[in-house]
Amino acid sequence: MPPVRKKVVKPAAVAAQTPKSAPAKPPAQEQQPAQAQPPPPKPQQPLKPLAWGLLPAEWKAACAEFRQPAFRAKQIWKWLQQRRAISWDAMTDIPTALRDKLAERYDITAWTDDAYEQSADDGVRKLLLCCRDGVRIESVIIPARDQSTLCISSQAGCAFGCAFCATGKCGFERNLDPGEIVGQFVAAAAVATRRLTHVVFMGMGEPFANYDNVIKAVRILNDFDGIAIGARRMTLSTCGVVPGIERLATENLQVELSVSLHAPTDELRSKIMPVNKRWPMTELMAACDNYTRTTGRVITFEYTLVDGFNNLPEHADRLIELIKPMKGRVNLIPLSPVEHFDGVAPDMESCEAFARRLQKAAINVTLRRSKGKGVTAACGQLRLSRLAAAASAQIPVSDI
Ligand code: SF4
Repeated sequence: MPPVRKKVVKPAAVAAQTPKSAPAKPPAQEQQPAQAQPPPPKPQQPLKPLAWGLLPAEWKAACAEFRQPAFRAKQIWKWLQQRRAISWDAMTDIPTALRDKLAERYDITAWTDDAYEQSADDGVRKLLLCCRDGVRIESVIIPARDQSTLCISSQAGCAFGCAFCATGKCGFERNLDPGEIVGQFVAAAAVATRRLTHVVFMGMGEPFANYDNVIKAVRILNDFDGIAIGARRMTLSTCGVVPGIERLATENLQVELSVSLHAPTDELRSKIMPVNKRWPMTELMAACDNYTRTTGRVITFEYTLVDGFNNLPEHADRLIELIKPMKGRVNLIPLSPVEHFDGVAPDMESCEAFARRLQKAAINVTLRRSKGKGVTAACGQLRLSRLAAAASAQIPVSDI
């Protein structure tokens, strides 16, 4: 284990977002007699929409409804997305009556609690965020030489159950709404030591299982008059949800697409990724091929190397057959240890041999080293190695 400083910190900037009205922690319950019934749960108040999840056109419509001039929508947008206001009161050039109406209808605070863990050796930080209904999610900030990447969660939990993924083992809770997705960026930006330049949807959840909310969040993050993360600096990562790949091909969005392959045959892939039984490789690769032809964009195929499972020469040859016909590149990731997954990484020599075999067949390939082992990943350590590698530490095969 590398020397790791692991701490949980209350970042002042984000903590300031905690509403004054946030309920205090209930005192410990006194022990009840065995026959006592627990009190019925309090009915949950429906949550207001989060202000971070509205597009400019929606603010325009809201202002029209409030009989306000259109420029108010621009003011609100600017306060939220440029100045990252954390209270309606901060919006001093908005009339008080309008601020009251906004506060009545929308929440500006996405989290009731927040903290982060930090890995001292590489600066990777994991944010632990508690949604207004008590659901907990995670985001990870990964600094690199010339960029800083935020790994965002799209769902609380996940229903896809990939064998190597901690999130998948815990099951699915719910989809995150666009405000909660954008809100992760706002919270991370408040504690990041450098400007966040890239966003990867590789945290908890499968982005294409929450397609509409994810795409809306991408459009908000991408808006030139707001947070303004370039579309090409955002990566959507899927475990192979074919309808999502097909829809993304029609969106006219310049985002990067990453597909977790991890095995070159249905037999092997189904062993570690249950999604393969729903959308087997023939369907998946056809959707990928169609995506690259329609958009002209390259797909990154993630391939985790597990010793004796998917790293033999015949596996490389099958992978070449799959990728060769389309615009694709391969990221090879030696497996990081995962608690409940019975597999180990091949030695580096074997990883390099696999990479060279692909390269000889003119496949664009990188071999990744993981980063951020000092924090537990948002989506299992394997997933962290993928997203950290996406930010940095890639080794072009020509350098092997
Ligand atoms: S790797 Fe992604 S899709 Fe698979 S279980 Fe984990 S969160 Fe879900």
